[in-house]
This record gives sequence, structure tokens and C-alpha cells, in this order.
Amino acid sequence: MAESINRGNLKKIYEGKAKILYEFSGEEDKKDLLLTYFKDDATAFNGQKKGTIIKKGEYNNAISASLFKFLKNKGINNHFIEKISEREMLTYHLKMLPIEFIVRNIAAGSLAKKMGVEEGVKFLSPVIEMCFKSDELGDPMINKSYLKAFDLCDPADASKAEKIALEINEILSKFFDDNNIIVVDFKLEFGLYKNEVMLADEITPDTMRLWDKQTMEKVDKDRFRRDLGKVEEAYQRIVDITSQC
Ligand code: 5GP
Repeated sequence: MAESINRGNLKKIYEGKAKILYEFSGEEDKKDLLLTYFKDDATAFNGQKKGTIIKKGEYNNAISASLFKFLKNKGINNHFIEKISEREMLTYHLKMLPIEFIVRNIAAGSLAKKMGVEEGVKFLSPVIEMCFKSDELGDPMINKSYLKAFDLCDPADASKAEKIALEINEILSKFFDDNNIIVVDFKLEFGLYKNEVMLADEITPDTMRLWDKQTMEKVDKDRFRRDLGKVEEAYQRIVDITSQC
């Protein structure tokens, strides 16, 4: 597929903090496809902290590609088609749900603060949160009653996404545990492709908290958020682990 891409036809439809999305303007055979370009830009605390993580685009493209392929093999349908360059992947063009799901196994970040618990406390069972995607509002947490009330999406689709998110938690927790890493929490986004709820967006150290099982050292974007150093090394470690999956 990579060789059949005419870059002259790429039309930027979205640029976010970490990715740029392009569609294939005027190409009938690619009307259902998107090209995602992963950037090195890093932001934290809703854009208040800005920086660059050298080669993050390459790391995140590689990690996402590996994990999407791995999940597909485990029966989790997702938007990934093919990695076409160091920083680019081809995906299906989904109608995105305006919500994101956060799955948590261990207290950290905003939940540790909200519930007044120490970071590192393991929950008796996974926690799942649904948030409305809005940078201006800081992605507020919502519940299922908001979906119909605000005409956000079909609650049945959100329920399907929630179920898939919990399945993904089991698969990824096991995979990373086998590789000496604890999956603390992560964020997922879903969309509709031909009426099917499908995993989309990215799965990377930008969107997950990953801790070393022995040392509890952070191997994710918290190294950037909290100025812990060795950021690139952390991303490289996850590239190495996921390239084996
Ligand atoms: P928290 O709510 O504790 O800040 O984040 C929980 C988990 O979801 C973390 O793994 C974090 O990386 C991820 N997450 C939550 N919201 C976002 C977001 O808007 N962008 C990204 N990249 N990750 C998020």
C-alpha cells in the first residue's frame, strides 16, 4: 500500500497535540482510509507544559502498530491497516465517538488525587471512567445518562466500547506483566466503522501509565510530565518490548 500513496492528494483534516490526520482527497479507492502522522511534540497538564521528545513520533508509531496488530490477533478489531513509514500509519476512517475511556488498575494521576489515595494502591477490580472529549473543558468525566441527554452517541455503542476496553485491559496487562511491566492505567478511543464499534486512536506511553515491576520506575510520559529524565530511553524500552508481541 505504501508505494501506492500519492502524497500530492493528502489533505490535512486534523492536527492535534501528538498526531496529524490526512485523508486521500479525490481517491475513490481510499475514501475510507486515513493516514496518521505521529509528531514529536509533547504536552502535559492540558497544554500548560509543552516540549519535544526526540523521536517520539517514531516510537509511538512503532508501539501503536505493534499493539494494534497484537490486539487484532487476539480478536480486538481496530482501525490499524499498515505502518507505511517511520512516523506514519494507514488506518480506516472511523466516525469517532466523542468520548474516551480510561481503564485503571492502580491508583495514579487524577484518580489518586480525586479519591485521596496514595499512588500505587492496587484496586480490588479495574476502574473504568468515561470522559467527554473536550480540551476546553478538560475532558470531564461523564456517565451513561449524559450520552442520550446531550446526544453524544448511542449508549449501546458506548457499552460495547466499555466492554472491549476491559478486554483490552486483560490482554495488555498480561502481555506487559510477562515483560516485567505493570499496566497502571490507559486511555482508549473508539469509533464506528460500517456500524461496528472499533478501537482507534493510539496506544502508546503517551496514553498509558507503565511501571517497571521490580523498581516501580515509570516507563511512560510521566517521565516528561514530571521532569524525571531518561524519557527517550523509556519509550525505546516499550518499542523493544512491543516489537516482540
Ligand atoms: P489521568 O486522568 O490520571 O491524568 O490519566 C489516566 C490515564 O489516561 C493516563 O495513562 C493518561 O496517559 C491517559 N490519558 C487521560 N487523558 C488523556 C489525554 O487527554 N491524552 C492522553 N494522551 N492521555 C490521556
